[in-house]
Amino acid sequence: MSRSARDTPMMRQYLSIKARHPDAFIFYRMGDFYELFFEDAERVAPLLDIALTTRDRGKPDAVPMCGVPAHSADGYVKRLTELGHRVAICEQVEDPKHTGGQRLVRREVVEVVTPGLVGDPEGLDAARELIVAAVAPGGVLGAAGVAALDASTGSFRATEVRCDGEELLSAALLEELERIAPREVLVPAPSAEALRARIGERLSEAALTPVDPAIFEARDPRRVGSDAGGRAASAILGFLEIHQPFALRHAPQLRRYRLGDAMVLDAATRTHLELFESLEDRSRKGTLIERIDQTMTPLGARRLARWVAYPLLDCQEIRSRQEAVARLAERDRTRARLRSALAGVRDLERILAKVTRPGAQPRDLAALRSSVSALPGVAAAFGDEGGDLLPDPGSPGLGLVPPEPLPEMEQLLRESIVEDPPVIPRGSRGANETGYIREGFRPELDALRDSARKGREWIAGLELRERERTGVPNLKVRFHPVHGYSLEVSKAQLGRIPEDYERKQTLANAERFTTPELREMESKVRGANERAAALEREVFESVRQLVLAGAAGIRAAAEAVADLDALQSLAEVGRRDGWVRPVVEEGDLLEIRAGRHPVVEPLLAERTGEQFVPNDTDLDPASTRILLITGPNMAGKSTYLRQVALLVLLAQIGSFVPADGARVGIVDRIFTRVGATDRLTRGESTFMVEMRETAEILAHASSSSLILLDEIGRGTSTFDGLSIAWAVAEYLHDTPGLGPRTLFATHYHELADLARTRSGVRNAHFEAREWGEEVLFLRRLVPGAASRSYGIQVAQLAGLPTPVLERAREILHNLESEELGEDGRPRLAEHGTADGESARPEDGQMALFGTPAPRSPEETAVLDELRALDPDRTTPIDALALLARLTGRLRGEGADS
Ligand code: ADP
Repeated sequence: MSRSARDTPMMRQYLSIKARHPDAFIFYRMGDFYELFFEDAERVAPLLDIALTTRDRGKPDAVPMCGVPAHSADGYVKRLTELGHRVAICEQVEDPKHTGGQRLVRREVVEVVTPGLVGDPEGLDAARELIVAAVAPGGVLGAAGVAALDASTGSFRATEVRCDGEELLSAALLEELERIAPREVLVPAPSAEALRARIGERLSEAALTPVDPAIFEARDPRRVGSDAGGRAASAILGFLEIHQPFALRHAPQLRRYRLGDAMVLDAATRTHLELFESLEDRSRKGTLIERIDQTMTPLGARRLARWVAYPLLDCQEIRSRQEAVARLAERDRTRARLRSALAGVRDLERILAKVTRPGAQPRDLAALRSSVSALPGVAAAFGDEGGDLLPDPGSPGLGLVPPEPLPEMEQLLRESIVEDPPVIPRGSRGANETGYIREGFRPELDALRDSARKGREWIAGLELRERERTGVPNLKVRFHPVHGYSLEVSKAQLGRIPEDYERKQTLANAERFTTPELREMESKVRGANERAAALEREVFESVRQLVLAGAAGIRAAAEAVADLDALQSLAEVGRRDGWVRPVVEEGDLLEIRAGRHPVVEPLLAERTGEQFVPNDTDLDPASTRILLITGPNMAGKSTYLRQVALLVLLAQIGSFVPADGARVGIVDRIFTRVGATDRLTRGESTFMVEMRETAEILAHASSSSLILLDEIGRGTSTFDGLSIAWAVAEYLHDTPGLGPRTLFATHYHELADLARTRSGVRNAHFEAREWGEEVLFLRRLVPGAASRSYGIQVAQLAGLPTPVLERAREILHNLESEELGEDGRPRLAEHGTADGESARPEDGQMALFGTPAPRSPEETAVLDELRALDPDRTTPIDALALLARLTGRLRGEGADS
């Protein structure tokens, strides 16, 4: 019986590697392919849509396998990690030539790619970070920590938050985790299940990876600290050590931050305000970030995104950023020069990450060189006119710091690497890939190349020389990748070949020969080529190490470029679109003159050519805490609410704002409950979500918060909804020490009555004009409550059929006669309406679906008797007797008794 297909040296090597990486798909390098075996192959083939085959078919236990070409492996790896899987890249780590075919080539896993740790940053969204996070749970330890690393840029940060009691994770930390939006979250294995539920609910798209709790213990506490934030950071470093140890050697500096340093923006608010993703299709189109991103580099784009995610709370910090933006905004020429200089800087951080990898390419160094060469231009943009860009000596830094040029690194890269180096396929040993080290950089290399070139020239001249010597006119020098050089002579001419020709190969019509001279020259050329290739690799490696030794300088330059670029982006937008610098101050004032929605304004112009109508905002703790905004649907309420929040946010990132003027008292947190975004996909009703968000607001708002409530209570019946909305408004207004600035948009006109009893509540509405059956929206916010909701006119605009609209008007008419009274209670059987009796049911029934049932004769008689009665001349006894008689009659106890 033949040997099992599983019992071969190669399979044994494979299985021992797999045993060390049981949780990863092994991409096992065999020549030009990566192969997967056994269960890996069975699972991966359908995921990547590639064919599943078997190895050693026919033998017992044939092995299932599938494979992908090495040169296109990156795409497949990316796909698998995006699906939440891990991939271990197992390379041949010695040249098969060196084994002489006698034994198996040594193979090793050179990196493990996970959802949060992509190896090669190629193809990543330049404007976004790709993050692996770790959570160090609180519990008895008191505080929980979270750390986040973007291995593709080196950004590494950590924070921690106190937890109540034995809580593993506080709500604030969970929220922070949402803001970080990691692709993968590491949690200590023992708490994995407990954390899975809480984290999974909020971060449905992140992979949750349980890891050995030991890696949370800092091996180098000086570097990360031993508190909760430090433990989370250690876990990330430990994870990196296991999966991509090369990255650890150049691991970046950990940056500590406190949640209290930035404005809190919960997930609901980020979503409602469309900061990074539109509600429509989750793209960047129509978002705030798209609107203000005029950055020239990926570094700046990511920096700006971070500023939007973490608006500042410190007045001084905000003002100094504003000052930098203002200086750049005032100097159009300097800014233009700066922008064109920045355009030459590419993604320094991600290029550096690529250079750090073992698979680094000469091309990566060339890319680094072009960015490094652009740095002096950026610094020069500050010259002459730009000189006064820089802060006065002694005043706080404005972030307006030119990057420090790196002349030595530039020189090294210019002298060592050719202009346009060739691409070397992934994992290739590079034997045939040469020519990327520049002439003149290493004399030995030049000498080797020279001798190889001379040899090739000699061979090239051989054809003519041999034709002359032998008299064979069609003699040719041939080259074959396996057989090497030969002299080809056709069959007819074989008689003329000289003595020293040695037969090498026989073809149909010709014979191929070599000579001792040719053989010697050939081996000289081959030897020189091989030695040159090896030397090139060596030179490349030493240049790479020199670059890595200077990584800190590259990082510092990247930081400076990131800040500068984000600042000039804000300046560019502010200046171009005529925005103003807001006054940012302590206190709870919020004043906006002629504010516009930063995103809707240009979209409106683009889509319909319409002008956006500017509106004011005046919230002042002394007079108005709550602005109640009524007005028909489509009037512009939601737009206005978001506009106010976005202007506050822009102000607190140091940006100018689309308004004629603004004064913003620092907002610690923006809460929003806007519109009916449904999260039905999670199996929750809209109303439930709405109430949960409302509960969050009431639990966490402070006197410095800004609250936007749009149509709360809409998801339930009218009276429930109205009652809840009413109570929420009262709570916000009345709770001592609370009173946050609140914009409350509602279609419940009845709420307007709140302003009569609460001094801090003011009414406003969006103006609308009726035009026959139609309605015209003026988009203007004016004082006072709205009187009507124009719902039917809006329905008409939307194209509802005429009979439905007519019937709706009829029902509305009935309902309106049932309006709520001044006290907020339903005004049922009261007063007549101007339209007379017909619309006024007299028996207290809601006339929702038509007129009431006709009266019985008894009822008519009772009513007649009551009408005839004169209360002033009836004694209490008589009244009681009458009451007994009337009720008896209605209950059918006889008309005569
Ligand atoms: P509501 O919340 O009152 O139902 P929206 O805020 O959704 O109304 O606005 C309805 C439409 O009116 C939006 O499509 C928007 O483009 C437009 N709009 C809103 N505010 C303005 C404005 N100030 N100027 C011009 N158009 C506006």
